Amino acid sequence: MICPKCKSINVREEKHHHVVNLKNHIIEFDAPRMICHDCKNIVPEKELDFNAEIIQNDLYSAKYGIPKEDIVLMRKKLNLSQELFARIIGCAKKTLVSYEVGYSIPNDIYMGVLKLIRADNKMILEILNANKDGYTKEEYNKILNRINLKDSKSIVSNEELINNMILYFAENGVSKTKVMCLLFLSEYEYFKKYHKLLTNLDYINNANYLNIFTFEDIVINLINNRKLSLIYDVSLNKEMCYIKSNEVIDMTAFDPNVFAIIEDIKKNHKLLSVEQTLKTVKNNEVFKNSNNKITF
Ligand SMILES: [Zn+2]
Repeated sequence: MICPKCKSINVREEKHHHVVNLKNHIIEFDAPRMICHDCKNIVPEKELDFNAEIIQNDLYSAKYGIPKEDIVLMRKKLNLSQELFARIIGCAKKTLVSYEVGYSIPNDIYMGVLKLIRADNKMILEILNANKDGYTKEEYNKILNRINLKDSKSIVSNEELINNMILYFAENGVSKTKVMCLLFLSEYEYFKKYHKLLTNLDYINNANYLNIFTFEDIVINLINNRKLSLIYDVSLNKEMCYIKSNEVIDMTAFDPNVFAIIEDIKKNHKLLSVEQTLKTVKNNEVFKNSNNKITF
């Protein structure tokens, strides 16, 4: 790494005391940065700077805002996908995702809305109702039926297995969509062979794309628990978002029958693009005999 200021190569990662002014609050914490030892300047480094930003946002949210974990939890308890929750509160899905992973802090309006819902989950109905004109009657009723106001957690029975599968597939850094497809294919292959469900995730073929409702939640949990890293690659023409495991999952974490299937799938799709993998999923016969929902 070369210092852009003095062109020195004497640049090293060092513990750094950050003092940041965030929305008129001073946030202080220690996190490593790249420092030039000749001119003593800070040298930008994507991953370190990104991590520092997350820590800074976490500290701010815990003290003055709303912790990202609370946002995920309240949405889960309401039984809403990121897509639907974002639509109801009126922000883009991308914005909500960045709140949930701590990449950004909700602005004052959303902060207020989220705090209201956290304090009383029935507020979601008020918000939904206030914008009733924005939905068709059908959509509105569908959302109403879906919203859960009881305090039950959305439970994924075999979260550990799914966690390990995601970490295994994301070992070398892959797009979220691809991991989601590989999970689906594992489920499909396992069912074909053993006539039993593997992940128990809800697989929905939503017209043009594949969506696993709980998948996003599990990924966010893994990111928040620092088992997965989120990597933004802006070097390509379009912005890409990858997930990469922070730990290596060894095969003994899996039942040998499961491992045989996922190892095969990972190998077969290693060199395929996201689009090619997605095509394999969509061409799967399981999609041909149901119009909306995938049932095994
Ligand atoms: Zn320098």
